[in-house]
Amino acid sequence: MSKVIIPDHPFSLPVLALLLATAGCNSNVPTAPDANAAGHTAPTQVTIKANQQVLQERPFSNRDDFANARRGLIAQNPDLVVRHPNGTTLWDMPAYDFIDADGSNAPASVNPSLWRQAALNNIHGLFKVTEGLYQIRGYDLANMSIIESDNGWILVDPLTAKETASEAFLFARENLGEKPVKAILFTHSHIDHFGGVQGILQHLSEVEKQNLRIIAPAGFEEEATSENIIAGPAMGRRAGFMYGRRLSRDARGHVGTGLGKGPAFGTFGFAEPTDLIQQTGDTLTIDGVPMIFQVVSGSEAPAEFTFYLPDHKAFCGAELVSSNLHNLYTLRGAKVRDALIWSGFIDEARQRFNEADIYFGSHHWPLWGQQNIQDFLAIQSDTYKFIHDQSVRMLNRGLTPNEIAENLRLPAALNQTFHNQGYYGTVSHNAKAVYQKYMGWFTANPAKLNPLPEPEAAERYIAMMGGADQVLNKAQAQFDAASNMSAEEGKKSYRWLAELLNHLVFAEPGNTEAKALLARVYDQLGYQAESAPWRDFYLTGAFELRNGGPDEGINPAVMENIMLNTPVSRFFDSMAVRLKADEADGEFITIKISFTDLNESYLLTLKNSVLHHQKTDVDTSADATLTLTQPVFVDMLIGKVGLKELLFSDDLSLAGSRLDFINFFSMLDKPDGRFNIVIP
Ligand SMILES: [Zn+2]
Repeated sequence: MSKVIIPDHPFSLPVLALLLATAGCNSNVPTAPDANAAGHTAPTQVTIKANQQVLQERPFSNRDDFANARRGLIAQNPDLVVRHPNGTTLWDMPAYDFIDADGSNAPASVNPSLWRQAALNNIHGLFKVTEGLYQIRGYDLANMSIIESDNGWILVDPLTAKETASEAFLFARENLGEKPVKAILFTHSHIDHFGGVQGILQHLSEVEKQNLRIIAPAGFEEEATSENIIAGPAMGRRAGFMYGRRLSRDARGHVGTGLGKGPAFGTFGFAEPTDLIQQTGDTLTIDGVPMIFQVVSGSEAPAEFTFYLPDHKAFCGAELVSSNLHNLYTLRGAKVRDALIWSGFIDEARQRFNEADIYFGSHHWPLWGQQNIQDFLAIQSDTYKFIHDQSVRMLNRGLTPNEIAENLRLPAALNQTFHNQGYYGTVSHNAKAVYQKYMGWFTANPAKLNPLPEPEAAERYIAMMGGADQVLNKAQAQFDAASNMSAEEGKKSYRWLAELLNHLVFAEPGNTEAKALLARVYDQLGYQAESAPWRDFYLTGAFELRNGGPDEGINPAVMENIMLNTPVSRFFDSMAVRLKADEADGEFITIKISFTDLNESYLLTLKNSVLHHQKTDVDTSADATLTLTQPVFVDMLIGKVGLKELLFSDDLSLAGSRLDFINFFSMLDKPDGRFNIVIP
């Protein structure tokens, strides 16, 4: 059984609610002689060839990024391990020591370009960016930046988890000196930029906390607490794939996420902002440090700002820009982002803050030099605009998403830099996001209008192809032949085999030979991927074919602190999407929920197998009325206390029909985030 130490994705709240999971070891998938302990097989000849070719495709002799990532190092803890109060390891930098410090000598099982990025993201510690500006990097997925003010410190983005944020803060204080914290900035609503705030607050005095300013973009609270709550269980499950949660850290496993090493799975928290930045051009002076803000909401995050420090001539790009191509569509599942708006905001920043001599961001390392920053921003902006414009050009000529993704290549002028390459997002899946933004899922080909669901189609494919044995034999022959093909043809063979063998596994999920061969194919596609999420998707797919799905799913309790800050109406939206329509058929029930602490009442109406909610007066009548406080309601939602237990407690009172009430709650689905992905 392999114990998983790395958490889920940081960007949406319920996604983080997945518990550490253990692998199911009951699979009978045969172990290959060349497999490592986790089952991952050796790179084939064509994978070795393909990965060697990558070295010719990018200017690997340019070492500027390594110089920038190491510049200004003040202190480093080579044994940086952070543990959860329950004893599990939630951050482990030495686990990545197998990655060559200079990003050279990539093993054949890792794309050398991704290997280089993984090496850069291994460089961690406390860094001086310029006089009065510091960064802690490699203590979590994101960076924490530290600005020296007249009488203290201003912190930017207090990481994902309380535990890593605390460790980072204490390390900074030990090396920079103890001064009061005057302000904390949340650059945007993704949890890797605010979730660790309680790890800072726990070290502050009462006076510091009373005077503390917390500055965030307008809309932050709503987005930070509610983003993606509706689709949380599915996103959480998929995020496990995207971040290689169940993979070992080694040359045939997880090497990083491209954006950083990975999210820290600890205790997540929230703090209410005292200042909201409304619009671009807003300025603040905090303890003697002037700041000029640019609001970029609707680009990388729904609520986000960048800012400029005129005294330092330093531009904080938040996550609007970073040293990888970001996601227009994130593979864990999310609403697609608007490439044109995103590109436009980068260009606006380039012009508005054109005096910047220093760029620093929420991920990756800084840049120095006005021209370097201008070039960086121009290429970042043009990369998103190129992907947008050319994808639209092709869709207007009738190309489908798969065709666009296959044809779209960055032009030479955008292909000589590393910072806009697909370590996180890719040109391929971002092109499909542009298609999705304008066209949705349908390609207009009627054959795609109403296809059979995957298992039914798979059965028919396999039957018509002569049965499972014949398909498996031919697939094995093709797999063997691929090894002697050109890199390009070999990869196409693997991609085709993934599709073919997926049909076989979906037709016969008990066919262990088929699963073993498909897992081998996924291994090779993972080893060749330049994108860390692609690598992790393929390798996790291989892992689950061999070992089965996770034994444990969602534990919403880890989100308690954040859920307490989530508007209650959001929970009713999430209840509505859990209604088991067939059980609710013909039911007409009204439930009133009155929150004594919020002085708010809501009427839930179940009718036509649809659940509605509306704010109501306290004296509205209903079949059943539940009176309680928001914390008790949250306890109920996260399963901290059972419904029946609650009904007999003093924390809650129920008037009206107890039967209707219990009947109502029994009709709500409890998705556990453990559904199958690589088998039907
Ligand atoms: Zn981030």
